[in-house]
Amino acid sequence: MSDTIVRDTGPLSRRRFLSVTGAAVTLAFGTNLPRGDTAAGSASTVRADPFTLGIASGDPLADGVVLWTRLAPQPLDPMGGMDQRAVPVQWQVARDERFRQVVRSGVATAHPEYRHSVHVDVRGLAPGRQYFYRFRAGSHLSPVGRTRTAPDPRASVGRLRFAFASCQNYPEGFYTAYRHMADEDLDVVFFLGDYIYENAVDALGGARASGTAIPDLFTVAPDTLDLYRLRYSLYKSDPDLQAAHAAFPWIVTWDDHEVEDNYAGDVSKYNTAVDDFIVQRANAYRAFWEHQPLRVPQRPKGPDALLYRRFGFGDLLQVSVLDTRQYRSDQACGDGAKAGCAGAADPARTMPGNVQEEWLLDGMAASHARWNLIAQQTMLVQRKVSLTDPALVSMDAWDGYQASRQRLLDGLVQRETPGVLVLTGDTHTNYAADIKRNFDDETSPTIGVELVGTSISSGGNGEDTNADRQLDLAANPHIKFANQQRGYVSCALDRDQVRADFKVVPFISTPGAPVTVRASFTSLHAQPGLETV
Ligand code: FE
Ligand code: CA
Repeated sequence: MSDTIVRDTGPLSRRRFLSVTGAAVTLAFGTNLPRGDTAAGSASTVRADPFTLGIASGDPLADGVVLWTRLAPQPLDPMGGMDQRAVPVQWQVARDERFRQVVRSGVATAHPEYRHSVHVDVRGLAPGRQYFYRFRAGSHLSPVGRTRTAPDPRASVGRLRFAFASCQNYPEGFYTAYRHMADEDLDVVFFLGDYIYENAVDALGGARASGTAIPDLFTVAPDTLDLYRLRYSLYKSDPDLQAAHAAFPWIVTWDDHEVEDNYAGDVSKYNTAVDDFIVQRANAYRAFWEHQPLRVPQRPKGPDALLYRRFGFGDLLQVSVLDTRQYRSDQACGDGAKAGCAGAADPARTMPGNVQEEWLLDGMAASHARWNLIAQQTMLVQRKVSLTDPALVSMDAWDGYQASRQRLLDGLVQRETPGVLVLTGDTHTNYAADIKRNFDDETSPTIGVELVGTSISSGGNGEDTNADRQLDLAANPHIKFANQQRGYVSCALDRDQVRADFKVVPFISTPGAPVTVRASFTSLHAQPGLETV
């Protein structure tokens, strides 16, 4: 989505790396790694509550989860209020909320090179179980988090509950939807991109007008590591976001705004030189990893990071998490909405990149799960945004990568992949759509269903419908629902059907909005296709 941003101009402008490419960038970032694993600090380095950014867990396996926190007694200070010493952080995992039955514990090191973030890859847990966790640094105890391991891969699983969300532009409003999400009973949450935005945040925090003074470091678009880190510090200071992280394990991926609006691979939409842009991308990816519950294999190596990955939930569900930004071809025909763009159909162009595309389809072929979920970013189904012939379509979504999309759809059909369920973010709009093998033929088979979640806050208060949303429905018969309120989507999966509840809040300009179910749909495992509940 396009947003107005302020480009950096003053003393904070991008450090120039002349002729820095590939290996040289990796080398440059290799020097910014911790010197050792010894915790050299002492409790005296943590004087005030360091858990201002909350806690999180994520990437659940049958035997473990990742636990995350970051020590930042002063979150909007570039160093987080910490000095350059490493700090030991104790952690505990227990069966009960009062930590009477601690099953795993240890000491992790919060390194200044990772801005005192902590990623604990806890293993040895039992499958399909709820656990509680907490941290201690110095004399400070963190809040208690709740998490859940994935079911045993061989287990016959009857039911799973999950929710998904995306797009939380901080200055556009409150994260009320997360407060309601935290009250649900979920096995896992998927986050589908735009965790931060590069937009300027004014001193009042935009629409929040919260009274918390935002430093002027937030009036420039981030490109350095410290500026990206500060974005996460601000966003993660939100109590509703913290509550949703503390309540469930999250599986996160990114879209464009974690780096810059509508970037593609190493191509910036602002024509930043590639040598500069990959340094910016490296900074953005590093800050993302530092602030999410991710394992070491997902830690960036210079400007590259392996974020696409797979999860299993017994015999019920296989999840493939995509990264459709890092490897994509540049948008065709200059991006935006275009009609009849020949480049959009060029088979040489790709959305996931050839390696990820092969990985995805190989994973579908090997899957023994009843349902096969793809958690990804931009809209998969065709969405004509005009009634003209040819129609305008978005060059940034899969509509701008039509041959790549057809390879995916044909690949799913050829592998007879059952229970195809695609979760999507990006558009700041709720959609429910049937995935057709050929979107221009209503009699074409329905391969699965796509659920597109609206934003948490991006776009402000929103509205139930408008002329654009009416046009979506008129021009695209496979799209069954369109709504532009803020919220998230909550799903219940059993062996025979998936049910999706689109949950919306009427406003985000002030806190405290109630949540309602705006629409509910089911799709049968035996016969994919959306039915209104
Ligand atoms: Fe967004
Ligand atoms: Ca986006």
